[in-house]
Amino acid sequence: MKTSRLQGAKLVEVDVNPDGSLDIDAMLRKVTTKTKLLYVTSPHNPTGHILSEEHFVRLVNELPAHVVLYLDEAYFEFGMRAGAPDYLAIIRTRLQPWISTRTFSKAYGLAGARVGYGIASSAQLAAAYRAARPNFTTNVIGMAGAIAALDEPGFVSESLSVIEVERTRVGDALAQKGYRVLTTGANFVMAVMQPAEADTLARRLAEAGIVVRVIGMPRGEAGLRVTIGSTDDNDQLLLKLSQA
Ligand SMILES: *Cc1c(COP(=O)(O)O)cnc(C)c1O
Repeated sequence: MKTSRLQGAKLVEVDVNPDGSLDIDAMLRKVTTKTKLLYVTSPHNPTGHILSEEHFVRLVNELPAHVVLYLDEAYFEFGMRAGAPDYLAIIRTRLQPWISTRTFSKAYGLAGARVGYGIASSAQLAAAYRAARPNFTTNVIGMAGAIAALDEPGFVSESLSVIEVERTRVGDALAQKGYRVLTTGANFVMAVMQPAEADTLARRLAEAGIVVRVIGMPRGEAGLRVTIGSTDDNDQLLLKLSQA
């Protein structure tokens, strides 16, 4: 959002559906001859929704050729685990222009090391992307961390397993408190409630040193996005929730 403002772009936002899923029809309807890029992320941040193969195929097929399709795969590894389709295999069927980006910040636990990578439909688009981004976005220490992480596939699959179990535990606890918990394929879970309740809950948790995000949702509701931590972190969270 901030980046599009800095670049002088006009940002057109599309609400997600109340269940946290992406509204592909609404996105396609808002595309005009002036649209330069359509951004989509799956699993989606902040709802955790996994875009279905059927919807992604439609997006790839129906998006006009003058629009760059930008697929943000920051939660790619979690999505794979949760049964997300192979978006790359689908997006490759689009002739031009598309780009997909992934990061070592999430599943690899290297947030702060600032390493990621992109895959583009052409060398020309990759060069344009490189030209538009700030210089020296990755550093040698981050790159060394990423290479080391790739040598330890066991670490990633172990954390994915833990998160899968813990995500259900945290989601169940939130549902038990009466909140509407959205289906998620990411390392966070969103509980939907009234905005005042979300603000109060977020403040109480912050007092206990637990940071969650409150995000506006359709129909005037609010989503409390809770990132899944270690088992101990989640124990703390559930304890505070039971007291809130
Ligand atoms: C975390 C995240 C990224 C990338 O994060 P970096 O730390 O900058 O690599 C991109 N998109 C979304 C939606 C994210 O949540």
